[in-house]
Amino acid sequence: MSPERIPGGTSTGSKRAEALFGAEGGPARMTRAAGCRVWDDHNREYVDLGMALGAVALGYGHPAVTAAAERAVRDGVVGSLPPVHEAALAERLVTWVPGGEAVRFLKTGAEAVAAAVRIARVVTGREVVFSCGYHGWLDWCQDASGVPGGVRALHRSLRFGDVGDLMDAVREHPEPAAIVIEPVVERAPEPGWLGGVRAVASQRGALLIVDEVKTGIRLGPGGAAARYGVTPDLVVLGKALGNGFPLAAVVGPSVLMEAVARTWISSTLATEYVALAVGLAVLDTCEREQVPARLYAAGTRLLAGCEAIQRSYAEVVRGVGGIPEFSFLRFRDDATSARVAAAAARRGLLMRRGPYHFVSLAHDDQTIALALERLEESVAEVERAC
Ligand code: PMP
Repeated sequence: MSPERIPGGTSTGSKRAEALFGAEGGPARMTRAAGCRVWDDHNREYVDLGMALGAVALGYGHPAVTAAAERAVRDGVVGSLPPVHEAALAERLVTWVPGGEAVRFLKTGAEAVAAAVRIARVVTGREVVFSCGYHGWLDWCQDASGVPGGVRALHRSLRFGDVGDLMDAVREHPEPAAIVIEPVVERAPEPGWLGGVRAVASQRGALLIVDEVKTGIRLGPGGAAARYGVTPDLVVLGKALGNGFPLAAVVGPSVLMEAVARTWISSTLATEYVALAVGLAVLDTCEREQVPARLYAAGTRLLAGCEAIQRSYAEVVRGVGGIPEFSFLRFRDDATSARVAAAAARRGLLMRRGPYHFVSLAHDDQTIALALERLEESVAEVERAC
């Protein structure tokens, strides 16, 4: 067998055939997307519940986004001066983040969280960082092969919702530079834990970085921090902000953000302005069309439907997790989830085997009903075969 041209088959881990369909197999590659639909390389159409891992909240090819991108492409994409779009988007973005005064743009969520961590290390003069959730592939938070031991030693993972574990972490490392949290990890955060994280950060002189890469924009101004009642020091945005274009940001008060001038956080194409123009179009659309409220409503319908499926097919689906904007089914085991995902693909539905299904503005009532119908048929087929 010739070596794989792209190791793993794709550069995005969660889109590997194995991740999507286990050993079952399914559609391999796509050619285009529109609204909440995706077409594979055999021109088969699917309703999509993944929405590019939550990167797209307005729908694929949303007209306002496409118009902004086309214009920015015609205007040259990038140049040797910082673009007006950068300042304009920063001006708008701070209104979406309570306490936000200054912004640093980057291209990926991982980069932006790493930038926030760097800022925290500069501000505090400390090195150890606690984190909870997924924050990207970069060294500071990864336990993966190839990450130097010295780097790993500066990072302590926290268990979501576990106050005891948080206290253990503080005993092990009394002076962390930052506590980085995903505010939602398979479920909404308990107030006690969230309050505990905030209190520990304040008492220990660490910055609380809320990684809103999944929750930002989708949950509305203030994000998950506002919904669940915690005050971050720094906020990281990504995914929905760019509606599929590469855009992420660190947002915080000037007194902290000025630390970027005392270190080095910079990227050649951070000022590429197709994505920045798209970010402006996304915020415009969100504000004009009450997008977060509509995502909440659509997600609530999907979640309710998934809960009904769970009750009817409890042998295959053991539970439902998440929040209205992004939820998921807990399957009996990996093999079962793969069979359901493959059966769903045969029926024209792209689902996730685990966290998360994301809704978009394009998921109208009818499409959610159709998705649930295909999902239920797929689960029923697998349960019959059990
Ligand atoms: N933080 C969170 C909460 C995420 O969900 C992700 C991506 N799933 C990242 C950071 C990393 O973002 P990216 O893949 O764009 O680097």
